[in-house]
Amino acid sequence: MSDPLIPSVNIGVVGHVDHGKTTLVSALTGLWTDRHSEEIKRGISIRLGYADATFYQCPSCKGSEAYSTSQKCVCGAKGEPVRTISFVDAPGHETLMATMLSGSALMDGAMLVIAANERCPQPQTKEHLMALELVGIKNIVIVQNKIDVVSQADAMENYRQIRKFVKGTIAEKAPVIPVSAQKKINFGALVQALNEYIPEPERNPDEEPLLLIARSFDVNKPGCSWRDVKGGVIGGSLTQGVFSDGDDIEIRPGLKVQVENQIVWEPIQTKVTTINSGSKRVQEASPGGLLGVGTKLDPALTKSDALSGQVAGHIGHLPPVWDKLAFTVKLMERVVGSDDEFTIDPLRHKEPLMLSVGTAVTVGVVVNTKKDVVEVVLKRQVCAAVGSQIAISRQVGGRWRLIGMGTLV
Ligand code: GDP
Ligand code: MG
Repeated sequence: MSDPLIPSVNIGVVGHVDHGKTTLVSALTGLWTDRHSEEIKRGISIRLGYADATFYQCPSCKGSEAYSTSQKCVCGAKGEPVRTISFVDAPGHETLMATMLSGSALMDGAMLVIAANERCPQPQTKEHLMALELVGIKNIVIVQNKIDVVSQADAMENYRQIRKFVKGTIAEKAPVIPVSAQKKINFGALVQALNEYIPEPERNPDEEPLLLIARSFDVNKPGCSWRDVKGGVIGGSLTQGVFSDGDDIEIRPGLKVQVENQIVWEPIQTKVTTINSGSKRVQEASPGGLLGVGTKLDPALTKSDALSGQVAGHIGHLPPVWDKLAFTVKLMERVVGSDDEFTIDPLRHKEPLMLSVGTAVTVGVVVNTKKDVVEVVLKRQVCAAVGSQIAISRQVGGRWRLIGMGTLV
């Protein structure tokens, strides 16, 4: 059994804008994931947010009352730590689907947050569920939020709408837990459901490590002395393998450089100097949970998410880097993310597509649509293993809309 205080799974928090995702994560973890000035000003999440919570079980209470995110139970007894979860808070705004999709690459399970005081489904409720379905995230807990502002009869009516909406989808068997994120109502039942329905996936520690980079930072305060400058930090999750302090690592595609009028990407090599899992310094990290990996890189290379979408691993062991992707395609029947729904036509020669591969998002142009395999020439290279899933979005009514899924061949 792994250390219950170290995060071992990532739970994505998805759903329509304003349904209470960030409030819920904050109530569960004590952290507000909208940290950037633009997010605070606009009141919406723009980037992926992360926060950890430890689940505790009280030895003297029974059923859902025993579960909590604080060690001290309401009965006064001291709870035992069960496991620690990293929440990945995805933006719900329709223009930010790419960010939601890059987050879905890191999710071991998901909470689909649905506000009880609006008709279900809202456009991004549908689009996010479809994304979970396409990516194959089947461990789902549905959170019916804002029950503090609806009558019991309206909550029941909303519950029926939710059940009807998820019927026949990947979330058909998911439990629906009514809560109020704002008033912290019914959190015991929510924690119990997350604990039961989103188990830690099987992991093989012998595989080569693969870190999908979701964020990257310059952690130095402006004007600090050069003597105190800390190396660049990359943030993301391992999808497999183990990273250790002192590992020599490579980041690909790497750095864009111009050599004699040609743009080429050069892998970046560096050393791991620190690993933080949640707020804890660790010597070694495995999949699950967001890691902050300190490196010897010039922080100018990592500032403002400059490396997000790239992949890190041991030198010489990363998957290939592609400037053209060939993949098999499964298209949906309809575009669902807006009020008007459209039928999805087959992919067209020369049409631009937005592709999400791991945490990378890139735009490309279709060059070949023969048979079952489509080829797309990319504007930006990506590093991905054969067999990786690719979320495919197309411009519909001036926005990128998720239309299907591909598998890299
Ligand atoms: P997000 O876009 O899904 O991340 O939604 P936010 O967490 O930013 O919440 C949107 C709005 O709903 C904010 O004004 C919250 O205060 C409010 N809200 C969130 N949860 C609840 C709840 O349980 N009850 C009520 N009444 N309001 C809530
Ligand atoms: Mg939010």
